Amino acid sequence: MTMAEKIKIIPLGGFDKIGMNMTLIESESSIIAIDCGTSFPPDNIPGVAAMIPDVSYIRENIDRFKGIVLTHGHEDHIGALPYIAGDLKAPVYGTPLTIAMAEKKLRDFGIRGVKTRAIKFGATIVAGDFKIEFIKTNHSIPDSSMLAIYTSQGIILHTGDFKVDMTPVVGQTGDITRLAALGTKGVLAVLSDSTNAMTEGFSKSEYHVYEQLDRFFNMYSNSRLIIVTFATNMDRIQQIINLARKYHRKIALEGKLMLDVLSVARKLGYVDMPEDVLADPEQLSEYDDGEVIFLTTGNHGESVQCISEIAAGSHPRIGIRKNDVVLFSSIAIHGSELEFNRTLNSLEEQGAKVEFQDLHATGHACAEELKLIYTILHPRFVIPAHGEYRYRREAKRIATEVGISPDNVFLIDNGDIVELDSESCTIKGELSLGDILIDGYEKSRIDTSIIQDREQLSESGVVIIEVCTDKKTGRLASGINIECRGFLDEKNFQALAEGLKDSISSEISRFIAQGVNDDRIRKGVEDLAREYISAKSGKNPLVIVLVTKVML
Ligand SMILES: [Zn+2]
Repeated sequence: MTMAEKIKIIPLGGFDKIGMNMTLIESESSIIAIDCGTSFPPDNIPGVAAMIPDVSYIRENIDRFKGIVLTHGHEDHIGALPYIAGDLKAPVYGTPLTIAMAEKKLRDFGIRGVKTRAIKFGATIVAGDFKIEFIKTNHSIPDSSMLAIYTSQGIILHTGDFKVDMTPVVGQTGDITRLAALGTKGVLAVLSDSTNAMTEGFSKSEYHVYEQLDRFFNMYSNSRLIIVTFATNMDRIQQIINLARKYHRKIALEGKLMLDVLSVARKLGYVDMPEDVLADPEQLSEYDDGEVIFLTTGNHGESVQCISEIAAGSHPRIGIRKNDVVLFSSIAIHGSELEFNRTLNSLEEQGAKVEFQDLHATGHACAEELKLIYTILHPRFVIPAHGEYRYRREAKRIATEVGISPDNVFLIDNGDIVELDSESCTIKGELSLGDILIDGYEKSRIDTSIIQDREQLSESGVVIIEVCTDKKTGRLASGINIECRGFLDEKNFQALAEGLKDSISSEISRFIAQGVNDDRIRKGVEDLAREYISAKSGKNPLVIVLVTKVML
């Protein structure tokens, strides 16, 4: 009897914390990656915009790598493509909107030569050893997909981000029938979205949001409306467009990302926005209060920024007037709570009415929906994904509640190598993964030594020492110049610098006495200065030594 082939599941991101989703599925001859996202950087790292997954393992096994399969178009699932897909030279698959967003992203970064393929729901692709079927699901962006990955050992079902919405208002309900059919056939393992595992019940349907929006449109028919939502939530935007038409209002769009995303969505027919529903930007002041809506969006960070600017009076086009109504059709935004709170206070201080109540529905399954999915798929193994530890642990509890043995539910971390065949599932070792950070300005990878320098600069400043020596003898050719920034005040610094100059000068003499006249002098001066400064000031600023050699 030949040994059964083992299939490996290796998450490169997305398991320890939210964001940076990327999971490998590997057989003996093929590897595919599910998603390729960014995450917010760890707190307090200056100038870093994002983190991306460490794909060294794919590079080491590039001959077996067959492609990247995307579940949907959110940043935490496609954001790292420009940094990763160009190098790997493997095709990228996804549903039409997801692929259009991925292509736009690659174009914006000037990345060429990445093959992309738009796949319709229900269709199956072949990537190496694997067949992958795209199954429609509901989430907070259209065209979100679950993936059924057919392997030699059975079906692995990756839920992507999902919720179960029976009344989605725009678009259709996810393909639950197909999931039930797969469940009947037999599912080996499920990787499931755990974002809302700690929230009881079912997630709210988009239909309830629509009803509530409708109520507010009616209630505030004579006020200007300012609506805040996420640019990628096109179904929500469609509802707002529909309501604008119903109540004879024009929409003024705010936010670059919004305009970008909408142009893609309109082109592909995901948003129906006739030109006549848009307000003329030049004539905004002409409209009566009850005739216009300002739709301000962006990604999570940007939408806060836009409404904060409006609240602070620094937005170029919109200022708050008494009786304006601000509808927050988005959650209080992660990581920006302080700014968000300040914004709310400021809006209300200026006389605006702010409404939140029932204006947002999450895009992620809550506890009862997880139960439903685990029940109809009835997988042999469950690997809760997309969530911090406590959320995944809760998803484990939910899975065991519907009859899956706790021994068959695995809480794994990024880098863990899960091996499974049709009978068993075990964690066999782990990959060591590095933190790959992206510089906010350069939009490129940034070395950890740069981050260390930035941290040192922000803690203790910088000291720059200029030394001019005779090229032939190595002797000092002029006085030593020492400058600092962000380190000590002028008086204390001068006292320290005088002593330091004396020490440097004796150090250089010592080198010369030993016949040394090369880079060792610069290094020696740097070490000495660092120790001296630390001993005298108790601080560890960045020390830079510049040696200029002159012919005397
Ligand atoms: Zn998502």
